[in-house]
Amino acid sequence: MSRRRQIYEGKAKILYEGPEPGTIIQYFKDDATAFNAEKKGTISGKGVINNRVSEHIFSQLTHIGIPSHFIRRLNMREQLVKQVEIVPIEVIVRNVAAGSLSKRVGIEEGTPLPHTLLEYCYKDDALGDPLVAEEHIACFGWATQEEMQDISSMAIRINDFMAGMFAGIGIRLVDFKLEFGRLFDGDFSRIILADEISPDGCRLWDLETNEKLDKDRFRRDLGGEAEAYQEVARRMGLLPEGGLSEVLDLDSERKKRGK
Ligand code: UDP
Repeated sequence: MSRRRQIYEGKAKILYEGPEPGTIIQYFKDDATAFNAEKKGTISGKGVINNRVSEHIFSQLTHIGIPSHFIRRLNMREQLVKQVEIVPIEVIVRNVAAGSLSKRVGIEEGTPLPHTLLEYCYKDDALGDPLVAEEHIACFGWATQEEMQDISSMAIRINDFMAGMFAGIGIRLVDFKLEFGRLFDGDFSRIILADEISPDGCRLWDLETNEKLDKDRFRRDLGGEAEAYQEVARRMGLLPEGGLSEVLDLDSERKKRGK
């Protein structure tokens, strides 16, 4: 397969031009960053796991009527998606206080919230993705009020689905980040779910022990991050009997063959 034209390289993914107009290939890297890329490293096998986990969640969400950019997984590290114009807002969905919320309002990590909290951050690395209000989003034209209506109602439905799915495999969905995009049809556009959903952008705690099974292991130097990502994939039924090593062997075989 000839190498496609690279469109963009982000912190955890590379985007290539897709085979047909209006499509993009997302390549999932093992690179990990935290604190606005001040901390850099790799988590072995992360790209393979995130590709699978995201495929699984986006496919399930399609079944409950959440439109998304996901078309199909192509191989271990790549998936085909629809090209969208990304809305420059990160949507943070929270069920339990943690991370920046705990710091900002002085509420202990692990405190359950009385209801699901939606927060919005303006996507701008140079500014460190600042928290903004819906008023800022409308005022600066980052999204229309109708688009924010669609985004917030989808975020709540996604949370309801995901919180249940994770609870079923002994995991507490503490919080997570979503990104949405505009899919154009002539002059019209509609909002669909984009980017990825994986342990990179979720806080996932073991229901019984509160053990962290997500990127906080990397952010906070807790160690065992590769194992934590594998544990999530294993509980989701996405790892074969032989575990990740079997998957990675296949991945390196494929790379050797230059595919
Ligand atoms: N998150 C993310 N990308 C970001 C910021 C946050 O994926 O640029 C996710 C993060 O993994 C967590 C949730 O959003 O699951 C809430 O993150 P928070 O605002 O607490 O920020 P953090 O503590 O990660 O700086």
